[in-house]
Amino acid sequence: MSRTGIESALDLLSNETRFDILRALASQQFEEPGASGMTFSDLFAEAATDDSGNFNYHLNRLLDRLVVKEGECYRLTHGGIQLFSLLQATTYAPEHEHRTIQLDRNCPLCPADLSATYREGYLEIGCGDHLVLEIYVPPSWIESRSTDAFLDCVSLLFHHHIEKIAASICPLCWGALGHGLRTDEQPYPLQYYYPCSQCGTELRLVPPQTVMHHREVEAFYRDRGIELRETPPWKLYDTYGEMRVLPGADARVEFELSVKGDTTVMTVDGRSNLLAFEPEG
Ligand SMILES: [Zn+2]
Ligand SMILES: [Zn+2]
Repeated sequence: MSRTGIESALDLLSNETRFDILRALASQQFEEPGASGMTFSDLFAEAATDDSGNFNYHLNRLLDRLVVKEGECYRLTHGGIQLFSLLQATTYAPEHEHRTIQLDRNCPLCPADLSATYREGYLEIGCGDHLVLEIYVPPSWIESRSTDAFLDCVSLLFHHHIEKIAASICPLCWGALGHGLRTDEQPYPLQYYYPCSQCGTELRLVPPQTVMHHREVEAFYRDRGIELRETPPWKLYDTYGEMRVLPGADARVEFELSVKGDTTVMTVDGRSNLLAFEPEG
């Protein structure tokens, strides 16, 4: 979103009467999906003003941007629905801050227990010493779901992220992603990074994750009893072996995957390309 686009959206939200109108329409939208909208008098009754001229001015400012009028009824535009869905999904969940969920397995890098801790909208997966994975999750998920259902959703979200990153699309805002390789990260020194030119978020993947949805990689795991897309990312780190940067300027990394005693060697470039795949007997 351009600076003027952001300013104009924030400006629309910054007035109390306009916000009352949007909130009333959003509440109806979420409580009665498919409703035809609200009339002028319905909306006026919801606003904290008794000046109908002033109310009309603010309603008109929203028209054709976040609100449309059809017949006598006003409703949110697609953009208005998205904006409110986002505000609702990203409402901070302070009562769950620092909540920790035990994942019933060891850290892939040490004998300590692996756990997931919710912090400022992010789920941090690791032990006290190693942060293995960090993923943004909508705070509404941790508020409204059982622990098992929440972890299932996080796993699904991770796999969606993998697909979007493979297409150079930011999973958070749909902006364009760049890419590069870092060689001094912790706890996994080699990590591909993907900066978003639109929202500024930088996503990171360890090399095996960049190709985990490739047919050959899925088949390697499936033949050994693991359905990759149904497996949470934190259960896969134990299968990642040695990784090393190959000579050349194209940021290729070679790594081993080991599943149930079988090992394979793969080469990737961080752009979701599987350049070499050598099954070992
Ligand atoms: Zn650890
Ligand atoms: Zn983004």
